[in-house]
This record gives sequence, structure tokens and C-alpha cells, in this order.
Amino acid sequence: MAIPERPEVLAYVALGANLGDARASVRAAMQDVAALPHTQLVASSSLYRTAPFEATGPDFINAVVAVSTRLNAPELLLNLQHLENGAGRERAYRNAPRTLDLDILLYGEASICSPTLQVPHPRMWQRAFVLVPLAEIAPNQVNAAQLAEVVAQLIERIDLA
Ligand code: ADP
Ligand code: MG
Repeated sequence: MAIPERPEVLAYVALGANLGDARASVRAAMQDVAALPHTQLVASSSLYRTAPFEATGPDFINAVVAVSTRLNAPELLLNLQHLENGAGRERAYRNAPRTLDLDILLYGEASICSPTLQVPHPRMWQRAFVLVPLAEIAPNQVNAAQLAEVVAQLIERIDLA
């Protein structure tokens, strides 16, 4: 098994939910991500409440975690999708309300552009619900100009990390 010889990579994962007890879903998902194989939690943001952005339904609860992982990026994606499925997610249509959405924002310094995985996440720079929690735990990853771009989007910090 080659996994123990692989380097540890610092990855950032965005969590979002807007159905059912979204707060509990995001909290549970943070623990589940931290418990993934070959993966350690490095930091977790506060929880944020955001109005739906290019989406419908109730407000979202969002957060970002940093993990140090020996999973490669496709393996990390598969593990995250497994957690999404376990949370009862159904992909009814694009941006449909969801019990749990887990996105890889950054995977070390990697640039990945495959049919199933794009890293850095192509839409992260347009989304306050990603940039604000990311800036909380990784201020060096987000600059003031990038935050200024999304300042009009409503976002409220609800549970402090
Ligand atoms: P979104 O997160 O954009 O609202 P979905 O969660 O439904 O939409 O994602 C649909 C597809 O996006 C997934 O099947 C996955 O293959 C792909 N995808 C591409 N890049 C990423 C990424 N960085 N993180 C998570 N999923 C990604
Ligand atoms: Mg997603």
C-alpha cells in the first residue's frame, strides 16, 4: 500500500447545507471530514448563515475546513461524495437545495482540470460563503480585493469556531 509514503497535502474543503437541520449537518460533516482515512483536521472555521446564492430554498449554513491529507485529490473527492450521499443528498437539479455539499477549494498548490474535478474550485472567488470562512482560517489565501468583490452578499457568522 503506497499511501503512507505519499506526501501530506494541505487541502481546503467547503461545507454547505440548506435542508433539514443544516447547522447539525454541517457540524457532523466537519467531524466526518476530519475522520477521513489518512487525513487530519488542521483548522475549522466558524459556521456562517448565508442567503441562497444562485439557488433557492432556505438560508444556507456554510463553513470551511483545512485538512492535511495523504489522499490524492480524486480520492478526496470520492470520499467527500460518499459523505454527501450518506447525508441523503439528491442531485435533483443544478444548485438544488441540498442536505450537504462538500467541495474541494484548494489541494496544495495543485491545478486540476478533469471532467470530474477542477481545483482551485472555479467558482470560489465569486462566493462570499466560501471566501469569508476561508479567510477566517487561512488569511493568506484570500486578499482584500477578493473579499471586496463579494462584499454585497449577505453572510452572518453564527457559531464561532
Ligand atoms: P456545486 O458544488 O457546484 O453546487 P455539485 O456539488 O452538484 O455542484 O457538483 C457537481 C460536480 O462537480 C461533482 O460531481 C464533481 O465531479 C464536480 N466537481 C468539480 N470540481 C469539484 C471540486 N473542486 N469539488 C467538488 N466537486 C467538484
Ligand atoms: Mg459540490
